[in-house]
Amino acid sequence: MRILIVGPPGAGKGTQAALLSEELGVAHISTGDIFRAHVEGGTELGRQVKKYLDAGTLVPDEVTNAMVAQQLTEDVCRVGFLLDGFPRTVRQAKVLEALLRDRDCEIDTVLAFDVPEDQVLKRLLARGRADDTEDVIRHRQQLYREETAPLLDFYADRLITVPAVGPVPEVTSRALDALRTRA
Ligand code: ADP
Repeated sequence: MRILIVGPPGAGKGTQAALLSEELGVAHISTGDIFRAHVEGGTELGRQVKKYLDAGTLVPDEVTNAMVAQQLTEDVCRVGFLLDGFPRTVRQAKVLEALLRDRDCEIDTVLAFDVPEDQVLKRLLARGRADDTEDVIRHRQQLYREETAPLLDFYADRLITVPAVGPVPEVTSRALDALRTRA
């Protein structure tokens, strides 16, 4: 299975992606996690991307696309993957399509986590990640509305909307049920 997870900041994408990929036996690839690991490890890539993560703006495409291309090996395509945080724009989605075409595979399903914006601010402030300050969160929300939400139309033929409010295990079951119905 080759799945994308899309959702606004604070929708619980990361948490669900980890649980779902484990359950489904596919690779979990989170662009946000990979960038943060590089920042923490003090690598050259980490030094390049830190300012974007801190400001809640998008890392430039040439950096992000190269990183994703490296992650999505033919093996990963064969085993299946759950991609979390990429694509974040229609431009990136087109790059992904081309990349997958080269590797002879395609996205089966796009899970869209749906959560009202006013419910996530509190969650994110409580989490307290370095980019979880009120101004930066609002900026990430705005970017989501303007740049990422159009992906829901782009992938309309493969979209499953998952209501993401409620206890973590319930949201996971909802997503798994939806995937099974679809399969
Ligand atoms: P969230 O969705 O909660 O905002 P993520 O962990 O997905 O958190 O992303 C954190 C940050 O990593 C983003 O604000 C951005 O700076 C960077 N990032 C992640 N994915 C991408 C991407 N596809 N393109 C550009 N930047 C990205």
